[in-house]
Amino acid sequence: MEKSNKKKTFLITGGAGFIGSHLCEKLIGKGSKVVCLDNLSTGKLENLSSLKNNSDFVFIKGDANKIKEIAPVFKKYKFDGVFHYAAMVGVKRTIENPLLVLDDVEGIKNILELSLKNGRPKVVFSSSSEVYGEPKELPEREDGSVNPKIPYAVVKLLGEKFLESYWQKYGLKTCALRFFNVYGPRQESSDYGFVVGIFVKQVLEGKCPTVFGDGSQTRDFVYIKDNIEASVKAMELDSSNGEVINIGTGRPLTIYDLANSIIYYSGQKEKLKPKLVETKRVDIRHRFPEIGKMVKILKYHPAVSLEEGLLNIISYYKN
Ligand code: UDP
Repeated sequence: MEKSNKKKTFLITGGAGFIGSHLCEKLIGKGSKVVCLDNLSTGKLENLSSLKNNSDFVFIKGDANKIKEIAPVFKKYKFDGVFHYAAMVGVKRTIENPLLVLDDVEGIKNILELSLKNGRPKVVFSSSSEVYGEPKELPEREDGSVNPKIPYAVVKLLGEKFLESYWQKYGLKTCALRFFNVYGPRQESSDYGFVVGIFVKQVLEGKCPTVFGDGSQTRDFVYIKDNIEASVKAMELDSSNGEVINIGTGRPLTIYDLANSIIYYSGQKEKLKPKLVETKRVDIRHRFPEIGKMVKILKYHPAVSLEEGLLNIISYYKN
């Protein structure tokens, strides 16, 4: 059969955020049309500045959790796929406002029902490695135990399960991605932000990076480019329908080593060293994924090394 040349149209909720904005750029770069819906609570228009004058890109200020704001978007456009990435993000912020994460249940509900009734676009959902909580086994496997500890993670798990049931009961194509610690340009690096940005900012200001606890806790750091490539595959491939898939590198790193690496790649080895500080934060000790499912189903293997990723992010903050 001849391949259709018609441009595909995607909705990205949360498209002005860190991950969403990179996804908007990627899909436009691939020749698709993109409608970005964001309420700008944590997302920023400046994240989308490269797309401002692109005729295939539409920005709509709106909230996916409010049916009155999202229903008209589904009426106006016919989507080939929906990336539901809008959510309240950041451990500190979500713990300070535990009940607010429940609003995101409305968004999940809206996206699934509107997709079912409006041409059945595939729905790809940003879940989180937080659903594993303090893991019962390492590496963490999609078919292993989940143990969510914070309200944010409970809502992500609910989203995953709803997506899976919509695939099983109604045949709506869905896929949930459990994102491990993503880092890259535009990620929030304030107190409400994430460790890589926080450490890079501290080091570039000539300060010792503040490592919480003894720094032996581990995480799997995924450069944004790898996360986005995997997300696009999840949308493109039918093999991911109804699945939950870890998106990581399978390469655990202690936070102490992360701090040291950032100091090293910033050329500050002689001047700075990680500073251990006490924290009240209830922290997950270890987190790293089994990535066999991602490699098999999405046919994707992370390509960006820690060195390349950290050098990129350091040069981004320098400029
Ligand atoms: N962390 C740290 N110093 C900071 C911020 C974070 O040592 O200034 C640690 C935090 O305790 C956790 C890890 O870095 O063990 C990752 O934190 P982040 O908030 O980026 O993501 P999380 O994996 O906790 O969701």
